[in-house]
Amino acid sequence: MFLAKIDKRRYKLKITDIRIHVLKSALAEPFAFSQGWVRSRSATLVEVLTDAGLIGWGEAFAQGLEPPEIAAAAIEHALKPLLLGADPLDTEVLWHRMYHATRDYGRKGSVVAAISAVDVALWDIAGKAYAVPIYQLLGGAFRSRVEPYATGFYRIHGQGEAARLAEEAIRHHESGFRLMKVKLGYGVDDDIACMRAIGRAIEGRDITLMIDTNHAYGRAAALHLGRALADYKLRWYEEPVVPEDLRGYGEMRDKLSMPIAGGENEHTLYGFRELFAAGAVDVAQPDLGSCGGISAARHIVALAQAHGVAVNPHVWGSAVAQAASLQLIAALPLPHHSLFAQEPVFEYDRSSHPFRQQLITRPIEQHGGWVTIPSGHGLGIEVDRAVLERYRV
Ligand code: CA
Repeated sequence: MFLAKIDKRRYKLKITDIRIHVLKSALAEPFAFSQGWVRSRSATLVEVLTDAGLIGWGEAFAQGLEPPEIAAAAIEHALKPLLLGADPLDTEVLWHRMYHATRDYGRKGSVVAAISAVDVALWDIAGKAYAVPIYQLLGGAFRSRVEPYATGFYRIHGQGEAARLAEEAIRHHESGFRLMKVKLGYGVDDDIACMRAIGRAIEGRDITLMIDTNHAYGRAAALHLGRALADYKLRWYEEPVVPEDLRGYGEMRDKLSMPIAGGENEHTLYGFRELFAAGAVDVAQPDLGSCGGISAARHIVALAQAHGVAVNPHVWGSAVAQAASLQLIAALPLPHHSLFAQEPVFEYDRSSHPFRQQLITRPIEQHGGWVTIPSGHGLGIEVDRAVLERYRV
């Protein structure tokens, strides 16, 4: 229906405004991952408006310790002036415009997260303009549903929480998760004690674990941990060393038996080119809110495919980020095809997030161990503006 309207405009739309919504909510119970204590959840959402009345939504990745105002400032001061008046359907053209303009002070981190948020919003508009989900614009859906994995096992005291974490594993399983990712990186001995307790608790259940240390260790400790967990049939070992240590990543792949994953702290085709050229990962984890958005993910997926690397997006944001992740997952080709090939999975953070579920009118939930990929236009979601107001900074 919208195609007809666009025909009259010769496929031209115009960006009329870009609004930024910084949301925050203090947590009743702070929790830790290996890099620090998370005391509030936050989000940098972006809303791109057009002359046709179509609105697109995007979100910049706000890691638990990252002030959401950094990406917000980059959008307001660096990107918005480049985009007002432009045609939002020129997704690739605008991505390069934003990247070139910020190259000398960007390329990584929150500046690329800002580009990511805007880019996702442009793809949301494009889907709405062409009346299709984003995955259709990416070439179609390889899958209509995805198995979620529970990201959890954060700490509320610090060390010595093995018994509580073992109970948490059972809780995730009983709420429908067969896959779960255990946060480690609180000291190798403590990590191993936790994994033993979890392993005993889940014995006999159909559960697959992943681990994630958030680059807490140097190579020797990272190897020690990996070797100690060789028998846990881990789906992957995530961020074993710092993102700068590509040779360390390669060493993990050479010396450990489980697949090595990483990439949530890497950006754009240029960053992922280095990761793949170094043979650093079995599983690449671009985050749609920080890798450069859907446009950059498209570049990264093609590069990964050429290197025989699987892509499994990382996501730790609100419902807007989750929806973007689901659109990419739908359109992900498999690097290793077979009848019973391993499919990508959807990261579902189970830590406290006061507005994640409320933010959209139909929250993204798992039912019977599966998440259905939204098939509405664009991201396929509707943002609840009352929730924006409630959590606005
Ligand atoms: Ca991670």
